[in-house]
Amino acid sequence: MHIIDMHCDTLLECYLKKEHLRENSLHVDLQSMERNHAMAQFFAIFLPAGNAAQEIGIKKEPYELFLEIFALYQTELQQNQDVILPALSYENVMENHRNHKMSSILTIEDGQLLEGDIQRLDLLYEKGVRLMTLTWNNENQIGFPSSADQTAHGKGLKPFGIETVERMNQLGMIIDVSHLSEGGFYDVARYSEKPFVASHSCARELCDHPRNLTDQQLKCVARSGGAVGINFYAPFLREQASGTLVKDIIAHMKHMISIMGDEHIALGSDFDGMSCGMEIERYDSYRELLLRMEQAFSTETVERICYKNALRILKECL
Ligand SMILES: [Zn+2]
Repeated sequence: MHIIDMHCDTLLECYLKKEHLRENSLHVDLQSMERNHAMAQFFAIFLPAGNAAQEIGIKKEPYELFLEIFALYQTELQQNQDVILPALSYENVMENHRNHKMSSILTIEDGQLLEGDIQRLDLLYEKGVRLMTLTWNNENQIGFPSSADQTAHGKGLKPFGIETVERMNQLGMIIDVSHLSEGGFYDVARYSEKPFVASHSCARELCDHPRNLTDQQLKCVARSGGAVGINFYAPFLREQASGTLVKDIIAHMKHMISIMGDEHIALGSDFDGMSCGMEIERYDSYRELLLRMEQAFSTETVERICYKNALRILKECL
């Protein structure tokens, strides 16, 4: 079974810990991706801001940090051309696959780095960025983060956020609503003319966390033609969970199928952006997850969740 995982923060970890992509002590490396038949990985350049940045000793402004991690990304990909190549389009992914190479899709987590300058979005596109998570856990020029406070959660996109959504549609960059407020989410649904994704989020009906999506939001993602990438972080899977269990991931898949059918679910592990443990520890844990998915679902459904839905979105958006 091929795998397309829509979110990991491995590049920031490589940058901070001076690790390499090919083989490392992190959740994701190219060797484990190969062992598990990865077709493509969405590699996020996660740009922590505020307290999160302070905690890990980052003093750089987001755009400056982006440029540094982007340089690392380019070097790493150059050094590993024998196994993985960048993909800027659906056709690139398919061509790489035919040539027995994995694909890397570059993404950004937190549109803060635009600093309200729409031209910077064009620059990012030219550098190969093909998805952007509009916000992280802080307010930025685009909008507001998800929140347990219902008033804060209801806040919509700012005017620059609407401009960003429209420009991302024009350029062919996937809009990612994970981390976004509920009000912002519905604004994306209103203004985006293309499918959009929640690259690493779960179902709120099963786990009442503001980072998760209500059934109404799930239906809205499906109506757009987009997908929700299931996050493997235990606190998004089950309240009071102390580690990640495969049965919880499968429960979220089953619930999402009951609400949206099986064409709008994908994988969005959040590897290297969260702590997991128990049954899911790193990329190699996909082996067990896939085995159990094959027991729970038809082959057709497993294929859709594991890579076909993500491929469709790449085809429609890029
Ligand atoms: Zn995230």
